[in-house]
Formats: sequence, structure tokens, C-alpha cells
Amino acid sequence: MPTAKRLTCRTCRSEENHEPLTSGQRDWLQDQLGNPISDNYYKCVNVRPDGTVCLNLRTHGHERHFRLTKRLPDDLE
Ligand SMILES: [Zn+2]
Repeated sequence: MPTAKRLTCRTCRSEENHEPLTSGQRDWLQDQLGNPISDNYYKCVNVRPDGTVCLNLRTHGHERHFRLTKRLPDDLE
């Protein structure tokens, strides 16, 4: 099982804590991409100045995995 890691975030433009996706978040992303996904995806959990969590997505190996930035919705468990 993957664990939390320090990774660079393209939206925050710094190294931030990233966590693996929950099963609900995986389901959402799989639905978005139309393909089964590996457990290689991480979300940025940095709290931004406006109080929201960043939630920008990347894979472990690639900060710019998505051509455009991709962010999880706030309301997914
Ligand atoms: Zn971030």
C-alpha cells in the first residue's frame, strides 16, 4: 500500500505532502480517464491560503503527468 510522500506540486510550485487516493477518489479518477488506474496516483494535501486543500493530482514519478492540471473535487471521500 502506498504511503504519504513529499513530492513537488505543479500548482503549489513547491514540495508538499502528497497522499495516495482513497477508493472513492480512485473511482472518480478512473471514471474521468475511462481506464483502470494504478495505485501510483497522489494528491497534494497542502492547505492553501484560502483554507482549501490543493488536491492537485500527479503520479509518483511524474509531476506533469496530466497535460493540463487535474484536481480532485472537494466533496469526494
Ligand atoms: Zn499542491
